[in-house]
Amino acid sequence: MIHVENLTKRYGGHTAVQDVSFRCEPGTVTGFLGPNGAGKSTTMRMIAGLTPPTAGSATVLGVPYRQLPNPGREIGVLLDAGAQHAGRSGLEVLRLTADVLGVPRARVDELLSLVDLDRTKARRRVGDYSLGMRQRLGLAQALIGDPRVLMLDEPANGLDPEGIHWMRGLLRDFADRGGTVLLSSHLLREVEAVADRLVVIAGGRIVADADKAELLQAT
Ligand code: ADP
Ligand code: ADP
Repeated sequence: MIHVENLTKRYGGHTAVQDVSFRCEPGTVTGFLGPNGAGKSTTMRMIAGLTPPTAGSATVLGVPYRQLPNPGREIGVLLDAGAQHAGRSGLEVLRLTADVLGVPRARVDELLSLVDLDRTKARRRVGDYSLGMRQRLGLAQALIGDPRVLMLDEPANGLDPEGIHWMRGLLRDFADRGGTVLLSSHLLREVEAVADRLVVIAGGRIVADADKAELLQAT
């Protein structure tokens, strides 16, 4: 599970994230919803130990991300899929990830079929992939260590409706098997069908945090 407590991030005089708190529980998909620039990526980067908070704290599975013994095995993270590994092939990326995590390479083949990347495409340079293919590759990478927690930042960007539908099924299965999912988007329609809870952020602050049914009824 993910616990975020009063996270704040300032860049110079600009406050990107202000006093943000929320929780993501096992067996649930939490949709993290807000317009571009609202502070979603900054929050997720702080949870994943990639950006130090100005104030507050975040834990995953009970400890700060960087204190997990093998974070890559326990937490699958997909941030900024568009910026990945242009020079390598998708297959190389997955093999390297498997090696780093100490996962058998046979797992790479399972993941390729799970995310529906065919072997011919997987041998091409990632720089030649569409954004949707990069999202699939990023999701495969996030899942390769068989994690208990998934954190995905705008994974639907670049996916077509069929891809979004496919990803929704994958995330639903992951949560139904006890996994914890934090899924950000700037579009309600990308998260409303799959999320159990919605945490809404605007201008760096949480403006709503409720069960989806409650929230959608109230609006
Ligand atoms: P979102 O993911 O919701 O689109 P971000 O977390 O990327 O929002 O950005 C939140 C705010 O923080 C924006 O105003 C953005 O310009 C600012 N910001 C993000 N990263 C940096 C950075 N490294 N330096 C300065 N400002 C940043
Ligand atoms: P069902 O549950 O009956 O399969 P859905 O409502 O899940 O129907 O999906 C109906 C159609 O809308 C599908 O073709 C799917 O690919 C597409 N779709 C589903 N979710 C989204 C979304 N968030 N954005 C755009 N299209 C979507």
